[in-house]
Amino acid sequence: MAPRHILDLSVEEQRSFIDSFDMVISDCDGVVWLLVGWIPGAGEAINALKNAGKSVKFVSNNSFRTDDQYMEKFDHIGAINVQHDDVVHPVKSIVRYLHKHKPGKRVYSLMSLEANETLRKHGIEYESLQIKEHLTSASLVNYLAIERTVDAVLFDIHLDMSYVELAKAIRHLQLNENCQLIAGGTDVIMPLAENLNVPGFYDFLQHVKRYTNRESISLGKPSPILGDMLKEIYNIQAPERCIFVGDMLVQDIQFGKSCGFQSLLVLSGSLTKEDMIAAPPEAQPDYYADSLADFIELFKNVQR
Ligand SMILES: [Mg+2]
Repeated sequence: MAPRHILDLSVEEQRSFIDSFDMVISDCDGVVWLLVGWIPGAGEAINALKNAGKSVKFVSNNSFRTDDQYMEKFDHIGAINVQHDDVVHPVKSIVRYLHKHKPGKRVYSLMSLEANETLRKHGIEYESLQIKEHLTSASLVNYLAIERTVDAVLFDIHLDMSYVELAKAIRHLQLNENCQLIAGGTDVIMPLAENLNVPGFYDFLQHVKRYTNRESISLGKPSPILGDMLKEIYNIQAPERCIFVGDMLVQDIQFGKSCGFQSLLVLSGSLTKEDMIAAPPEAQPDYYADSLADFIELFKNVQR
C-alpha cells in the first residue's frame, strides 16, 4: 500500500496510528535538526510525543558530535529531558562492540577528534594520526612505520581525514590478518545544508577495503548488527510497537523495516515526495510527514 501522510488520515485513523506504538526511534540530522540549521517545531513535537506517554530515542549515523554537543542541540530546540543514553550513534555502537568482542584490545582510529574523545572516555586504547605539516615521501615512510599492531581499525565520518591517516589504516590491516575493519557512518551522500549535498565517506571506506581485500563490519544504520543492539539496549520486545522516523530511504526506512519497526519518512531532510514514490518496495515507508512538527497538529486533531 502506498505510504500515507499522517495528516491525511481521518481523525479515527490518527488515533489508532498514535495508539499503535509505544516507542519512537528517530534519526537526528534532517529530522530533529539540520546538520547546519534548525527544523521549526521539532522540539515541541518531541515533547508532545513524550507527553502522550511515548518513549523517544534517537539513532544517528553521525559521531562527529560528542554526547555533550548532542545535549546542547536538544537544549537549543527545547526538547526536554533527553539523556545521554537516549542517543545512539556509531562510535557508541563501536565502543559497545569492542567491549563485548575485543575487551582490552588496542585499535587504530580513522575517526573524528570527537569520536576519539568518546573512545578515551570509555577506556579504549587507540592510536590516531593528526598531521598538519607538509609531507614528503620520506616523512610519509616515517609516519607509516608500525611499532605495534592493532586488533581493529575503526572507520567513521571524519571531516579532517587525510591521505596519511588512510594509508596507515591500510598498513595496519595489511600487517595483521586478524585486524578487523569496523565501520560506523558510511553514507554515500551527506546533506550538509539546504541545497548543499556533499559526498559522504562511503568511497573512502571502499578505498580501504579494495587495498586490503577486507570486508568491514558495519555498526551504523542500516546494519542489522545495530538493529539487534538497539533491541538489546532499549529492551524492545515487540518491534511492531516501535516506529522509526527518518529522512533517508535506506539508512532509516529500510533499516527500520528490517528491524520489524513501523516506519515514517519526514520530508524535512534532503528527500522529496517524488523520491519516496520512486523508492523500491523495501524502502517505502508506512507513513510520511512534512516534518516532525506534523505531530503537533496530529495531537491537536486527536484531542478534539
Ligand atoms: Mg538523517
